[in-house]
Amino acid sequence: MSKPAPIAAIRGFRDVLPDETRRWEALVGAARAMFGTYGFGEIELPVLERSELFARAVGETTDIVEKEMFAFRDRDDTSVALRPEATAGVVRAYLQNGLVHDDRQARLFYVGPMFRRERPQRGRYRQFHQIGAEMLGREDPLADAELLLLIRRYLDRVGAGGARLELNSLGDATCRPVYRERLREFGTAHLAGLCPDCHRRLERNPLRILDCKVPGCRAIVERAPVARDSLCAPCAEHFAAVRALLDQERVAYHVNPRLVRGLDYYVRTAFEIVSDGEGLGAQNAVGGGGRYDGLVAMLGGPDVPGLGFALGLDRLAMVAAPPAAEGPGPLAVILPLETRAVAPAFRLATRLRDEGLPVGVEPAGRSLKALLGVASKRRARLAVILGADELAAGRATVRNLVSSADRRQALDLDASGPELARWMRDEAAA
Ligand code: ATP
Ligand code: MG
Repeated sequence: MSKPAPIAAIRGFRDVLPDETRRWEALVGAARAMFGTYGFGEIELPVLERSELFARAVGETTDIVEKEMFAFRDRDDTSVALRPEATAGVVRAYLQNGLVHDDRQARLFYVGPMFRRERPQRGRYRQFHQIGAEMLGREDPLADAELLLLIRRYLDRVGAGGARLELNSLGDATCRPVYRERLREFGTAHLAGLCPDCHRRLERNPLRILDCKVPGCRAIVERAPVARDSLCAPCAEHFAAVRALLDQERVAYHVNPRLVRGLDYYVRTAFEIVSDGEGLGAQNAVGGGGRYDGLVAMLGGPDVPGLGFALGLDRLAMVAAPPAAEGPGPLAVILPLETRAVAPAFRLATRLRDEGLPVGVEPAGRSLKALLGVASKRRARLAVILGADELAAGRATVRNLVSSADRRQALDLDASGPELARWMRDEAAA
């Protein structure tokens, strides 16, 4: 019979191994601790939603909805999609669960996987993870400043202080159409130099020519009109107020007049967090976000303003300071020298683990030398040896693998759990 072929993961879907999940835990833990101090509560959202939610919220003409969504018909014929982002879901939940009825204000954050069918490369996957937060019901510039300050403090806390904040204002329903027209005119005048995608964008969504990655388009877009010059007075005032509050708290940012976001729903404040640090390469955006005052209404709710951001956990882990070079090995590995010693070894391991000590236990049937080799390979600090002599005496031999010292007949197998744990901790520290 032929050997079955191994099954690989789907393209763009990857495994996150313990060395990386440890970093993620630190990043997520810091977010949970810090977002709480700004009043955010955690929300756990479904991964699958109706496709229509994203078509309406993210926008029919965005890359995400047009070509990147994992969307399919379910057995009952509803069109569903793996979420490409979470803002739409947060707003849906906010409306569906009646959070809108309080004083319309809500502060919610989430952590979880998102799905986009993009070309996989370093820092770009088809399943990736985000930490994000949404603030609903706030129109005032203080809200924008609070959100940006939170991001800054968080990045500093997790050792990603090198990441920069890029800021822009995109205008609102009053002034954005004016800017859109100016861009369209500019693009039409430079049509020959723009890529076919940008030709399409000019018709449907001219703002998107600003973040085209094609070098020829980039060169042209350098000279394009900027949103700032088209802002109406209330938008200009709002932007100035956000900046003044950031300046007051000494939050560094760079105004990038060509910054637009991939999603249609942003108005006024838009921002991105970029890192030039090693490792990210072309995928240098660690996160982004902005204000989406029309989104709640677009999803069938009342006219409630909102704003939010999302940080890419996969990329953040590449730029943030690692917690420790290597995961710690177990405190001890228990080594039964013969089959008779397996049950007492298991008993000892259970009692130590119940006390919260990380310990391993090996199968019998190998020489002491081989077992000690295993223990140092696992980077254990102590080896606990259980052979015939030890069983007879009721005391295990403990070898300190760091100092190589033997403590014969030392560990009393009949001692209480806490006593055993204390003894082991002291021994490991010795
Ligand atoms: P990019 O310009 O890199 O495509 P984006 O503007 O599409 O990013 P957002 O929708 O703003 O990204 O999502 C916020 C963050 O989520 C990004 O800054 C990035 O860190 C992360 N992210 C987005 N798409 C991916 C992906 N395919 N793989 C890994 N991380 C991603
Ligand atoms: Mg993208």
